[in-house]
Amino acid sequence: MRIESVRTVVTSPGRNFVTLRITTSDGITGLGDATLNGRELAVAAYLTEHVEPLLVGRDAGRVEDTWQYLYRGAYWRRGPVTMAALAAVDTALWDIKAQAAGMPLYELLGGASRRGALAYGHASGRDVPELLDSIRAHLDAGYRAIRVQTGIPGLDSVYGVAASAAGGGDRYDYEPARRTALPVEETWDTRAYLRHVPTVFEAVRAEFGPELPLLHDGHHRMTPIQAAKLGKSLEPYDLFWLEDATPGEDPTALRLIRQHTTTPLAIGEVFNSVHDYTPLLQERLIDYVRSAVTHTGGVTAMKKLLDLAAVYGVKSGMHGPTDISPVGQAAALHLDLAIHNFGIQEYMRHSPDTLDVFRTSYTFADGLLHPSDAPGLGVTLDEEAAARFPYAPAYLPVNRLTDGTVHDW
Ligand SMILES: [Mg+2]
Repeated sequence: MRIESVRTVVTSPGRNFVTLRITTSDGITGLGDATLNGRELAVAAYLTEHVEPLLVGRDAGRVEDTWQYLYRGAYWRRGPVTMAALAAVDTALWDIKAQAAGMPLYELLGGASRRGALAYGHASGRDVPELLDSIRAHLDAGYRAIRVQTGIPGLDSVYGVAASAAGGGDRYDYEPARRTALPVEETWDTRAYLRHVPTVFEAVRAEFGPELPLLHDGHHRMTPIQAAKLGKSLEPYDLFWLEDATPGEDPTALRLIRQHTTTPLAIGEVFNSVHDYTPLLQERLIDYVRSAVTHTGGVTAMKKLLDLAAVYGVKSGMHGPTDISPVGQAAALHLDLAIHNFGIQEYMRHSPDTLDVFRTSYTFADGLLHPSDAPGLGVTLDEEAAARFPYAPAYLPVNRLTDGTVHDW
């Protein structure tokens, strides 16, 4: 089975997605997600200019060999652009292999280890009443674990707080990347945040009780000592995890946080290699791996990373907001079902326009996602629908402190 054609499809049904489509000599089409939010065309160019010509004529069944050929063969290893491109190729080849075998991908990965993958949704509110409404709407929509993000008094716009969260339940399509000529700028005050967040979790626990798993994303904005303080102040509210407490580049920052708090820690959505994790795993500085199949070199690399994490008792918590396409989300769901050390899966529903372009078969019921038993990934791409939504430039926001200093967003 040879690779006959390769095509990179850029489409923007509400937000931008980059999809690699590989077709084989016997007519099987595999899909891979290569979406890098806010820098999409860099990956599209990497694929069209540097990868597509290497794939045509290759044996579609040699998944590991193709991974190594593209990773080692480029000489320039790692990095978000390279690893997203590699992920798309790898995922498409797994999709093809599973379709050729007539099996859902999770069967090739070892078979199901559970009935479904516990998913968490994104509740948020500009104030506490709006947040409580948003949590209720998510519970009504079937979620059994909730990420809680809150507005901060004195700040106009805060990461993770959707403009329409209250009315829309889990149907909103929170889109931090805005279609403006320049990035939107937000203002940030860490001290105000550290004072406010524990009061919000107190209100949430008072309303919903001790059982509901609650998560929170710090979005890389704290110093290690600030994050340690937040982790400590949230201990009474028994978080499932505190995510991205400090910027991702420095694994040693997690050491200091870990010395001060028993709040579980998750990190890794901006990582792209197992090598980003090795000190964090070996020193047991984290509890959950936050990478996405889409940004970490595909199913092959993500499986190896999660197997290494399992050695140290660390679980999965794969990145899965709507900047992961339904193709990338489906790949995550197959891994979620198959691995032993599954923790939780992030899940935001895609917009109706996105689901017109990407026809999915995964299901969500009683808080659990299931990838479906369709052969392969179980997602198809409607290219006519995709063509109706041309690429539109979009930037993630930039953050500044109240005195104007650029800060982490
Ligand atoms: Mg996050």
